[in-house]
Amino acid sequence: MLGLGSLELKEVARACGQPAYRGGQVARWLFERSELDLDRMSDLPRAFREQIAAAGYVPGELTFVTDRQTPDGTRKFLLASPRGGTLEAVLMPHWTDAEAVHTDLEGIRPERVTACISTQIGCAVGCAFCATGLSGFHRNVAAGEMIEQVVRMQGQSGYRISNVVFMGMGEPLLNYNDTLKAVRILNAEVGIGMRHLTISTAGIIPGIDRLADERLQLTLAVSLHTADDSLRDTLVPINRRYPLADLKAAMKQYVARTSRRITIECVLLSGVNDSPAQARELVRYLEGLNAHVNLIPYNATDAQFEPSRPAAVEAFREVIERSGRAVSVRVERGRQIDAACGQLRRRMAAGGEAIRKEHDGAGS
Ligand code: SF4
Repeated sequence: MLGLGSLELKEVARACGQPAYRGGQVARWLFERSELDLDRMSDLPRAFREQIAAAGYVPGELTFVTDRQTPDGTRKFLLASPRGGTLEAVLMPHWTDAEAVHTDLEGIRPERVTACISTQIGCAVGCAFCATGLSGFHRNVAAGEMIEQVVRMQGQSGYRISNVVFMGMGEPLLNYNDTLKAVRILNAEVGIGMRHLTISTAGIIPGIDRLADERLQLTLAVSLHTADDSLRDTLVPINRRYPLADLKAAMKQYVARTSRRITIECVLLSGVNDSPAQARELVRYLEGLNAHVNLIPYNATDAQFEPSRPAAVEAFREVIERSGRAVSVRVERGRQIDAACGQLRRRMAAGGEAIRKEHDGAGS
């Protein structure tokens, strides 16, 4: 049911012979109160709840498999789906007081809370440094399953999620329709501002073009990693189909149509793409494009790469900053819990770990 907006839920109510406003009540339980148990939707007539169930509508489908947390409050969930496979979702509270990261978080409310959700189980793009890519593609995630990752993490944590990034497992623009449906429901029903929604792509040009035509105010992040075509061919194999020059043209068109600045993501890999010369090449590539650069410390998988040394990250950042372009280094979160996409799922699939913990009361 989480893949249905208020209007569709009102149609469900009508189809059950109920007044349309009953559908609005269901929407409030689902999206505002994160309630996924029909029996607890106490202001709905029992007959209506029974009709909903008899018609085959299920408020939520996913069940928690694991929930792991680091001292900074980052939580990584693995959720099982009856449609097949497991999804990873990460919850990241951001604290106003940096010291809270190292102290007792009890009773402290985060300034904002970001959810990172999966749009596919596995991924066909096959980036060389990505655990999900190493697992191959299994299936697309439905819009309702995307919303459910957010709603379940909200219910489980007690936090109101303020930002959502479509940056977990999978390439969102290769699951375009369901991703866009989830964007619209998160915005209109869950109440997350469009500018607080981010779609992260490896550079799927037809998807970027389509998204530009929607003229939404969401944030588009492009995982570029390097401005060298031959290197990108190996790191992000989709580059062979959508090379850098074409990608830049698509990004420029996106900015022109939406008036939104693009975020350029670069995972820095030691000795691979982190030299000052490569930073200068990136600066040249981005000339004329309204974009902010976000440098990401690599979260090691079992692939053949190593994280860049802090001095190399700083030197790379300085080159970009000196060019006058906005640049940031993403604060590293959740290394202890395999918070890079696909890591937890792969470890669990490989036989689990001693720290595996079944979630109390989860999976209603
Ligand atoms: S980094 Fe993203 S696009 Fe690349 S393989 Fe991993 S999930 Fe797919």
